[in-house]
This record gives sequence, structure tokens and C-alpha cells, in this order.
Amino acid sequence: MDKKEIESYIIDTPDFPKPGVVFKDIFPLLRDKLPELMDVFKNMTDWSDVDYIIGIESRGFILGSALAAHLGIGFIPIRKKGKLPPPVIDESYSLEYGSDVMEIQENKEAKNIIIVDDVLATGGTLRAAKNLCDKANYNVKDSLVLINLAFLNKFKQEGFPVKSVLEYD
Ligand code: AMP
Repeated sequence: MDKKEIESYIIDTPDFPKPGVVFKDIFPLLRDKLPELMDVFKNMTDWSDVDYIIGIESRGFILGSALAAHLGIGFIPIRKKGKLPPPVIDESYSLEYGSDVMEIQENKEAKNIIIVDDVLATGGTLRAAKNLCDKANYNVKDSLVLINLAFLNKFKQEGFPVKSVLEYD
């Protein structure tokens, strides 16, 4: 599946969930092309020594766990505060207005992981997820997103390890 075809299944929804945001609705793509999309993700990076995929709530759960099953590896969630049974490790991060906290369950053994999410916008979520994984003894080999809204972040300029299926400058 090429980029043009992938794009054709993603619907831009203006002013959702609030005025000024153009929401990337990936659900038509998941409905009609999930297996093909998993092959695209599979070919984006080197999976040879990756133990787990870590997915960010909530569409990162769908993409991340589908991809983990596709690859035959395990899945670990990062969730908003108060959703995961303890013991957990947390990380605060800034939002446009105010701040939030994300959590992951405690982990003892060093493991190689790849982070997966749907959309990279300002980058606050992915940056916090990476920090949280570092704290939790996970070695972040790569980060994969379906869509990088690169005009909203400086990840490429900073050399932050992230790959995207679609990128908008
Ligand atoms: P950010 O922290 O600004 O990079 O936002 C990333 C998170 O917000 C991701 O988990 C996305 O699911 C969600 N998100 C941000 N912008 C959009 C958008 N335009 N369309 C869909 N989801 C978005």
C-alpha cells in the first residue's frame, strides 16, 4: 500500500474535538486496511531484537497491539494517571493548557521496546512516553507513528528517533 492510498483512507475532520484542531480520523483506514497497514509498519524499522511494543493511550493501543500480534511479540500500555494497577511509574507533561500525567507498570528487567502511536502533533505525548520508558528500564529502540504533523514539532531537527508513515511539513 503506498502513501497516497493510505492517505485516501484518513479523513480530516475540522474543528474536532475543539475549534482550530483538524482531527485525523484513522478509523476508516483501520476498518478497511488494517492488515496492509501492519505490513507497512513492519517494514519501517528493524525488529530483530525488539522484545515489546509500547502503545500510548488510546489509538496507540489499537495500532500497537495489532502490530505486536502481527509480529508475534508482546504489548505494554502507557495510560493516563489512575488507570493501571500498581506498582506504576509516572511522568508529567505539559499540554496546551495545563498538564497531565501518564503511567506505565513497573518493570525490573532491561528490555528493548518500540513506542507506537497514531499522531505526533506538538510532541509532548511522545516525549513524555520516551522519558517514562527510560525511567522504567526500557531501551527505546525507535518510535513509530502513523502521522507526523511535523509543522507542529521539531523532532526531526532535534534528532529525536521517530519514523512516520505520513509526514506533513
Ligand atoms: P501531541 O502531544 O501534541 O503530540 O499530541 C499527540 C496525541 O494527541 C496523540 O496521542 C494523538 O492521538 C492526539 N492528537 C493530536 N493531534 C491530533 C490530530 N490532529 N488528530 C488526531 N489525533 C491527534
